[in-house]
Amino acid sequence: MSSIFLFFSELVRCKSIHYDSDLPTASVIIIFTNEAWTPLIRTIWSVLNRSPRRFLKEIVLVDDFSDRAELGEKLDLYIKYRLPPLVKLVRLKERHGLIRARLQGAKTSTGDVLIFLDSHCEANQLWMEPLLQRIKESRSAVLVPIIDVIDDNTLEYYHGNGRYFQVGGFTWSGHFTWIEVNEEEQRRRGSPVGPTRSPTMAGGLFAVERNYFWEVGSYDDGMDVWGGENLEMSFRVWTCGGTLETIPCSRVGHIFRSFHPYTFPGNKDTHGLNTARMAETWMDDYKRLFYVYRPELQTAEWGDVSGRKELRNRLRCRSFKWYLDNIYPQKFILDEDSVAFGRLRNNVSQPHLCFDNLQRNEKTPYNMGLYNCHNFLSSSQYMSLSKNGELRREEMCAEIPTYFSGNTEKVRMSRCHGRRGNQEWYLTQQGQLIHKVTNKCLDRADKQSMDDVVVSDCTNSWTQQWWFDHYAPL
Ligand code: UDP
Ligand code: MN
Repeated sequence: MSSIFLFFSELVRCKSIHYDSDLPTASVIIIFTNEAWTPLIRTIWSVLNRSPRRFLKEIVLVDDFSDRAELGEKLDLYIKYRLPPLVKLVRLKERHGLIRARLQGAKTSTGDVLIFLDSHCEANQLWMEPLLQRIKESRSAVLVPIIDVIDDNTLEYYHGNGRYFQVGGFTWSGHFTWIEVNEEEQRRRGSPVGPTRSPTMAGGLFAVERNYFWEVGSYDDGMDVWGGENLEMSFRVWTCGGTLETIPCSRVGHIFRSFHPYTFPGNKDTHGLNTARMAETWMDDYKRLFYVYRPELQTAEWGDVSGRKELRNRLRCRSFKWYLDNIYPQKFILDEDSVAFGRLRNNVSQPHLCFDNLQRNEKTPYNMGLYNCHNFLSSSQYMSLSKNGELRREEMCAEIPTYFSGNTEKVRMSRCHGRRGNQEWYLTQQGQLIHKVTNKCLDRADKQSMDDVVVSDCTNSWTQQWWFDHYAPL
């Protein structure tokens, strides 16, 4: 069946849903700092044109201390003479950063529901009704639309395939990722256009009942400029009694850009610092895995989070383990989900060599390398032998070609598929790591630091003896 057919069938499905005539009203909050004129105006007009006026209480623009000339008087005049009175503008007197700018927007808003948008979006047809309907049904549901891509060169709107979309995940390094909707959730939600639970959200575009936004702790106002607030809100909402859902019938386009068109005062790594605040507050002991990737942040000056911890106690939020077990069960926990983990070393002869990703890009398949063992457990040398026999890193698993040409073959890291097969390994008492399908052994052979690691025929050689730092108790 062609994707065009699917696309139309989802559209029809969405259009045939009944939305109540008395839905809560919405304040749409659009924050910006030095946004270009046309995307900002496009965002505003798409909301005006595509939201039923009876539900659109207001649009609150928050100017986070822009200095682009056209965002000054020209914008004031445009709002005064060209836009309806429901469009309001709040000008911040100093740079707040996106977190505190959104907080200002929320304070000013009076609608029943807050809908936050970035300043380079296009709301699509029928985008608002499904959000308001779901919040009417469940006031503690925090909602995200499907975010379509607007090309950052042509500004063209790419309407995604109707049925297929992804939800939010995270990496232990504290970054947002897109992940597939797991099978259990596909069953649970019933319809492909039903509210779909998402472990995390991208952050810029979401809807939340106004009072619930404040009840559940709004934002951490100790976070600066950009980054980390989306995972903070995701973990907070889930563990403190709410839900986070993608609403497939609501679609909003967003210009994804590869750079930030604004400054970071003091050149701070605000994403890292904000994420450390998040990890300290919400991740319990699992913050250890974040610090494997960001050891320097452990002692960085991310400030005081005692107020946020009090909030967490006051709301009696559940543990991060509960979140992992119940909301994101497919997330691989580097140590807990493993029979062995840590550096994977061959240490019979000097120098000790360890598995090391050699800083290779882990988004696409790559060969696993070897490097002199570090004297601490760095993320580049962190390996796990998972409970289902994967020799892996966070998302990439070791495999070797099943056609075996020569005596040795390189070890390829590919996305983990969870179906054993070519990604299954086991450990022997002598420290051999054997690839099950081919029956070959990991071999240091004659390799040196910076070389790729290989497998070869199993022998009793010391070059085939590997040791992990840690082994799970049997
Ligand atoms: N923003 C802001 N103040 C800042 C940084 C960002 O008001 O200090 C606004 C920005 O104009 C945008 C939104 O916050 O509307 C999200 O930022 P951005 O789009 O750069 O984040 P991305 O979508 O790239 O993650
Ligand atoms: Mn954006």
